Amino acid sequence: MTVSDKRLQEAIVTLKDSGVRITPQRHAVLEYLLNSMTHPTADEIYKALEGKFPNMSVATVYNNLRVFREIGLVRELTYGDSSSRFDCNTSEHYHIICESCGKIVDFHYPSLNEVESLAEQVTGFNVSHHRMEVYGTCEDCQAKNAH
Ligand SMILES: [Zn+2]
Ligand SMILES: [Zn+2]
Repeated sequence: MTVSDKRLQEAIVTLKDSGVRITPQRHAVLEYLLNSMTHPTADEIYKALEGKFPNMSVATVYNNLRVFREIGLVRELTYGDSSSRFDCNTSEHYHIICESCGKIVDFHYPSLNEVESLAEQVTGFNVSHHRMEVYGTCEDCQAKNAH
C-alpha cells in the first residue's frame, strides 16, 4: 500500500464517520487531491476527471470540496479574486508560490508560534491562525527563462 493509498483509506474512514456518502465522483475527487502535490483549483480537478465522469460539472467538484473542507479533510487557500486552491495536507506547513506559473509547493518550517503570541500581546487580538507565503520563481520556470 502506498502512502497515498493509506491516506485515501484514512480519509474514507473520516468521511464515513462524518456520515458522508461516498459516491464514485467523491472518491475520485478525493483520490486526485491526495495524489496531487500542486494544490489544484476546482477547475483543474474538474478537467482532470471529466473524461472519467462525463456527467460531472464544476459545481459538483466544488460541492465535494466543500464537504471535504467542512469535515477538515482539505484546506481552502484563497488568493484575492483568483480561484481557490485546495490543499489536502492539513498538518502545519508553509507555502512557496511561483510568481510565473502560480505553482504552490509545501515546505516545512517550525511553526512561528512566537509571532502569534507577539501579535496578540501588541494588538490585543485573539489570534486564530497565521498564514505565511514565500514567493519566487520555480525551477521549471527558471529553466524556461534561461532558454
Ligand atoms: Zn513556475
Ligand atoms: Zn500545502
